[in-house]
Amino acid sequence: MRCPFCHVDNDRVMDTRAMEDGYVIRRRRHCNSCHRRFSTFERMERIAIRVVKRDHNREPFNPEKLRSGIERACWKRPVSTERIQELTQRIESTIYEKFEVEVPSEQIGEIVMQHLSEIDEVAYIRFASVYRAFGNAQDFIREISPYLPLTKR
Ligand SMILES: [Zn+2]
Repeated sequence: MRCPFCHVDNDRVMDTRAMEDGYVIRRRRHCNSCHRRFSTFERMERIAIRVVKRDHNREPFNPEKLRSGIERACWKRPVSTERIQELTQRIESTIYEKFEVEVPSEQIGEIVMQHLSEIDEVAYIRFASVYRAFGNAQDFIREISPYLPLTKR
């Protein structure tokens, strides 16, 4: 690894530590040239999963869209931003655990509904009613605003 200070490629690893429950490896390095220390992080390369829509078109899975969809379903509900963030991450992990390269959009919707039902009934009903009408979670996320009077701005 090239040293960020002197740019010489001559270092030794001083220690290696697992972080984030073993999903990240941190290596502390010592530059043999300038004797400064730096760290490198190694993490899993995540292959972007693709969403298979009902019309069989594919689009990249977008956690940001997922989050804003959940946020809208939780509009004016007693659900904190942290909770929404946490829920989004949990749903994302579930998707990556269950599916490898592609996930049908219906499955995303089912997973979201399952999680929402445990958190807030109103948010769940909002999501479920609009989602079922669309039959596509990503379309739902894109189109939800006009269908929810509460989200009108
Ligand atoms: Zn150096």
